[in-house]
This record gives sequence, C-alpha cells and structure tokens, in this order.
Amino acid sequence: MKEKIGQKMKQTTDWSADFLMFWSLYPARQGRKIGKTDCWKWWQINKPDKQQLDKMLAWLQADNIARQKSQRAGLFYPNPKDPERWLKKKGWLDDVDYSAKVDSGKRDWTCKKCGRRTASLSYRNLCSKCEIE
Ligand SMILES: [Zn+2]
Repeated sequence: MKEKIGQKMKQTTDWSADFLMFWSLYPARQGRKIGKTDCWKWWQINKPDKQQLDKMLAWLQADNIARQKSQRAGLFYPNPKDPERWLKKKGWLDDVDYSAKVDSGKRDWTCKKCGRRTASLSYRNLCSKCEIE
C-alpha cells in the first residue's frame, strides 16, 4: 500500500507544469476528463514548445469562453473531444468562432451546411447533426 502511494506521487510529480496547465484548462465532458496518462505520453513524445503551448492554451481559453456564452444563451455547443484526440488532431489549429455566437440575436436558425431549420444551432451555425460530422 505504501509503495502504491509512493508510485502515484512519483507519477504526479513527473508531469510537467506545462502539461498540468493544459490538463486543467481542458474542458471536462459531462463532468469527466479521461486519458490523462495517454495525453502525457503524447506530450512527452511531441514536446510542445512555448509557442505551441501558448496557442493551445489560448485556444482552450477561447473555447471555454465560447462554451460559457453559449450555455448562458441556451445555445448548443459541441461537447469537447477526448483530450488525447484533440492533441493528436492538433485541435488548437481549428477555429473557435465565438463572434458568431456573441451576436446571436439575428440568427435565422438555418444550418449552414445542410440548410435545415433547427432549434439548436451551434455557434458555427450548424445543426447538431452536422456539428458532429
Ligand atoms: Zn445540418
């Protein structure tokens, strides 16, 4: 038992400050965040530099703001990807277009992609089906 605790602590201290910053900012999905060990593996292999880290953290901050604004306005906002998948797919290079959602008063509720009218449009003006695709 004692050994187990020691091991766990060692693993914790092995995580870099950069990684822990990323991890704490990454949004939980339905209250759960999974794959920390796998993300750490990715981190050690890819070793994001300062510039890349800044981009990642800025993206996550923008995403958090966009998420909160959508939720407050009662708008659909896509669930976060698994953090490991986000890292592997370089999620920080995707757009976070939260300007569209700030001015949500003049929306025509038509999905930009499939053209269907829907009551739950995402901030990118996509219906929930197209948003998942
Ligand atoms: Zn659609």
